[in-house]
Formats: sequence, structure tokens, C-alpha cells
Amino acid sequence: MTPPVIEWQEGTVTAIRPETRQTKSFTLALPKWMAHRAGMHYDVRLTAPDGYRTERSYSVASAPERVGTIELTVERIADGEVSPYLHDVIVTGDQIEVRGPIGGYFVWDVALGGPLLLIGGGSGVVPLMAMLRHRAAQHATVPARILYSSRTPEDVIYRSEFDALAAGDRGFEAFFTFTRQAPPGWTGYRRRIDGVMLQEVIKPFGKQARVYVCGPTLLVESVATALAQMGLPIERIRTERFGPTGV
Ligand SMILES: Cc1cc2nc3c(=O)[nH]c(=O)nc-3n(C[C@H](O)[C@H](O)[C@H](O)COP(=O)(O)OP(=O)(O)OC[C@H]3O[C@@H](n4cnc5c(N)ncnc54)[C@H](O)[C@@H]3O)c2cc1C
Repeated sequence: MTPPVIEWQEGTVTAIRPETRQTKSFTLALPKWMAHRAGMHYDVRLTAPDGYRTERSYSVASAPERVGTIELTVERIADGEVSPYLHDVIVTGDQIEVRGPIGGYFVWDVALGGPLLLIGGGSGVVPLMAMLRHRAAQHATVPARILYSSRTPEDVIYRSEFDALAAGDRGFEAFFTFTRQAPPGWTGYRRRIDGVMLQEVIKPFGKQARVYVCGPTLLVESVATALAQMGLPIERIRTERFGPTGV
């Protein structure tokens, strides 16, 4: 059966919020809003005055429970085509062409259950946050942990929201690792995600863990390989690759 065609629509930017020095969240009001499943993405299409067009995918950061709008969190890639345009040119009130929600594999909802282990690098945290926002909106008690790799403390997206979620919910814990510079006095992880770190974070969940890994290609591949080597069943590991670089 051919999948249904998802039409392009003009979303209106109703808010822009800086998250870190390199990331901003854009709220879009959609005339044809449809509930997504946490982990899905939208395509964004830009058209130049001469008709040149280009598209990129951006995960939905907001929970499906937020009706009528979606939030996208975009990292500015210095030599990129689309992300600098979104950061430097788009202002509140502008219209952006989008198509979605797209995807049915890298998705989680409360009905799928847990325990839920989320592993992200850089902007790969975006669809994972959608899963946590959905879990919170549903008041779900599914045990959940996130292991999030960033270059420096200033690069951690949604830091205060992670702290607030962890403070109000004994079923959720956030673990951070810093690959270039850790905060002063930091006693946690300060290296790329490796097998030892994964063993420690997954420990209470064991092989029952339902794992979602998202981020730069190298991170995703090395984490998925390490999890498989630890004996985690392949069908419990879902991955999404955002781009070529590492954190
Ligand atoms: C399913 C999916 C969901 C995505 N969700 C998000 C999201 O929520 N937030 C987000 O910020 N990005 C997300 N991305 C990445 C996004 O689609 C773009 O690839 C990214 O914004 C770069 O586009 P650009 O036009 O600015 O750069 P391009 O012009 O495409 O690339 C410029 C240079 O940057 C390199 N590059 C491309 N992508 C990346 C990257 N992700 N990291 C580092 N270097 C890169 C390229 O190799 C090239 O050298 C997602 C990708 C996929 C496939």
C-alpha cells in the first residue's frame, strides 16, 4: 500500500527561544496540525527568490499533547545552508513551509512501556526530549533515564527542564557527559560515551531496557554496537542519525 502523501503547509513562527549559544527553539502554529508520536520529525523547505529549493528534517521537540503548534529545536551549523538561515533570518511572524509528521520507527509512547533509556549527543537530544515531555504530560511512571553527551556545559540543551523533570519525578534520572570541558568541580562523566558508561547507566534496567539513541552518526553507531555487544536484543534498540560530526 502506498503511504499517504503528506502535504506541505505554511507554519507561522509564533515564538523563538534561544536554548544555548548554538541552538534555538522555534514554535510553529500549523493550520493543518496533526498529533505526532514522540520521536517523529517534520521536513522544512526553503525556497529562494530564483526558485532554488532545499529541504532538511527537524525532529519535533514538543509533546503530542500540545495541540495546534509544534516546537523545533535547531542547532546552527556554521557552514550550513538551512540552519544558519533559520537562526539568522527567521523572525517571529514569518511563515515557514513544513511537511509532517514523518516517521514511525524512532517513536515512543507510553503504551510501548519501558524501562526507557534515552541516549543522545548534541541536538540528538531533541526527539528524546519529546519522549520525556510526552511521558510527563501523561503522568506516566515508566522508569526513564537519559544519558546526554555534550561538548561543554554551555552546549547542554534543555538543562533547566531536565533538572525540573528529575526533581519532581523519582522515576526519571538524567546523566550528563562532557567531551571537551566539564563544569568546575564536576564529578560525573567527562568523555565520549563508551561501554563502561553504558553498563553503569543501564544497570537498573538490564536487558529489559527499551533504548533510543540519537545524534551524530559516529555516536549512534558506536553506542548501538556497544549495546549489542552487551547482549541487549537488537529489537529493543532504535537509532536515528542526524549528521556526520561527533561531539
Ligand atoms: C530525521 C532527522 C531529524 C533531525 N532533527 C534535527 C533537530 O531536531 N535539530 C537539528 O539541529 N538538526 C536535526 N537534524 C539535522 C538537520 O536535518 C540538518 O542536517 C542540519 O540542520 C544541518 O543542515 P544545514 O543545511 O544547516 O547544513 P548542510 O548545508 O546540510 O551541511 C553543512 C555542513 O555541515 C555538516 N553537517 C550536516 N548536518 C550536520 C549535523 N547535524 N551536525 C554537524 N554537522 C552537520 C555537513 O556535512 C556539511 O559539512 C535532523 C536530521 C534528520 C535526518
